[in-house]
Amino acid sequence: MKLINGAEYIESLRNLNPTIYYKGEKIDDVTRHPATAPHVRAAAMTYALASDEEHKDLAVTTSHLTGRTIGRFTHVHQNIEDLMKKIKMLRVLGQKTGTCFQRCVGLDGINATYSVVFEIDEKLGTDYLERLKKWLTYIQDENLMVVGAMTDPKGDRSKGPADQPDPDQYVHIVERRDDGIVIRGAKLHMTGAVNSHEILIMPTTAMDERSKDYAVICAIPADDPGITMIFGRQASDDRRDKMERIDVGKPSFGAVGGEAVIVFEDVFVPTERVFMDGETDFTGALVYRFAAHHRANYGACKTGLMDVLTGAVSYLAQIQGTARASHVKDKITEMIHLSETLYCSSIACSAEGWPTPSGAYMVDTMLANVCKQNVTRFHFEIARLALDLAGGFIATLPSEYDLESEEIGHLVRKYFSGVEGIPTETRIKIARMIEAMTGGTALVESMHGAGSPQAQRVMIFREGELDKKIKLAKSLLGLPVRENKK
Ligand code: SF4
Ligand code: FE
Repeated sequence: MKLINGAEYIESLRNLNPTIYYKGEKIDDVTRHPATAPHVRAAAMTYALASDEEHKDLAVTTSHLTGRTIGRFTHVHQNIEDLMKKIKMLRVLGQKTGTCFQRCVGLDGINATYSVVFEIDEKLGTDYLERLKKWLTYIQDENLMVVGAMTDPKGDRSKGPADQPDPDQYVHIVERRDDGIVIRGAKLHMTGAVNSHEILIMPTTAMDERSKDYAVICAIPADDPGITMIFGRQASDDRRDKMERIDVGKPSFGAVGGEAVIVFEDVFVPTERVFMDGETDFTGALVYRFAAHHRANYGACKTGLMDVLTGAVSYLAQIQGTARASHVKDKITEMIHLSETLYCSSIACSAEGWPTPSGAYMVDTMLANVCKQNVTRFHFEIARLALDLAGGFIATLPSEYDLESEEIGHLVRKYFSGVEGIPTETRIKIARMIEAMTGGTALVESMHGAGSPQAQRVMIFREGELDKKIKLAKSLLGLPVRENKK
């Protein structure tokens, strides 16, 4: 594989020329712009892990396509061990960055696409898998970062793709040529988009016959001239403009993934990069599998973040003299308990993985949905406990400018100090980190990333096998089981 460390990944981004806007202005270099650079560094950690002897086994594997060494973020899971190693890798990366490192969306897109196009080919005699394998070999050999692009704008949510007054509310094919297709539309909330090499477009929902032009999977280089990206705002991002390192909270890696709108204005995609074209019957399976893979991740990456947050709160308790209080220990215990509960579900849905007909392994979808649903609750509870333990000064803390001021810096140092011997600056740094990790954008990501809570509840109900459960109850009572109805 070509890109073997974080520095090479960052350098590779400088050779791309994507069109990116932020706050009304163009970003020329995502690796240096204060709004995007932290996210680039977080993604670079996925590359750096491959040269970390302790974790190399998680970060690197063997391609089932070529037998060559590849990064796990480009791998098609071949067994349960692969699923488990992915989960372990994500937790480690969460611990090392304290944020979203973005690269899992492409990995999950690759895996969902691989298993589904195999089934399309089996049923319809198409050659999508061969095309996908060629593209994937390129991705694996170069070790590229792929953004999995699923979520469409959706316009009027009461209508499906084919009934929208504006057809561009869902990415769709506007022209079919002998040598490829032309697509138009947009994808929203795209984690890691501005620092990816490639975009893997997938349909966002199950579709019917009338939506053939919307049933499209294809791959496009991220700097295609027909693509415009608009990078999103995040809570307190103005603090980054002046690179106030303490006030940013986590200056190295950012508080969330770094999301963008990707707009496609009549982008041509050659045939060899098209992996679904009109097969609406398979859109449901694609979305279902992608969602399950991504929801499985959340009990791992977020657990890594919560490990950092728990460590930050525990240290803050030590340096402000509250660590021995029994209620503090109890709340920290609860934070750990909730984190580990989340991790259990990520491990469980991987341990219960199963092979699709393509040979690619899927996680258990029920357990993956339960995992993500729990993240939407436990992360909030952990954040609540962290803020409870940290104290109100996080909301009223003066800025780094005041700390550094010749006139009043000594006052900030005096009145925001904790136990003797620990610089006030250390206490402020930890406080800002807790603020960043429990703030608005970070929690919204846990709520809606990988699908909003209701999306998991729909799948949990659907997968709940209520008929079987009714049979169990009836059997125990000796009632006739044939009366069962779903
Ligand atoms: Fe990966 Fe987690 Fe970020 Fe999703 S939220 S891309 S699973 S790190
Ligand atoms: Fe996410």
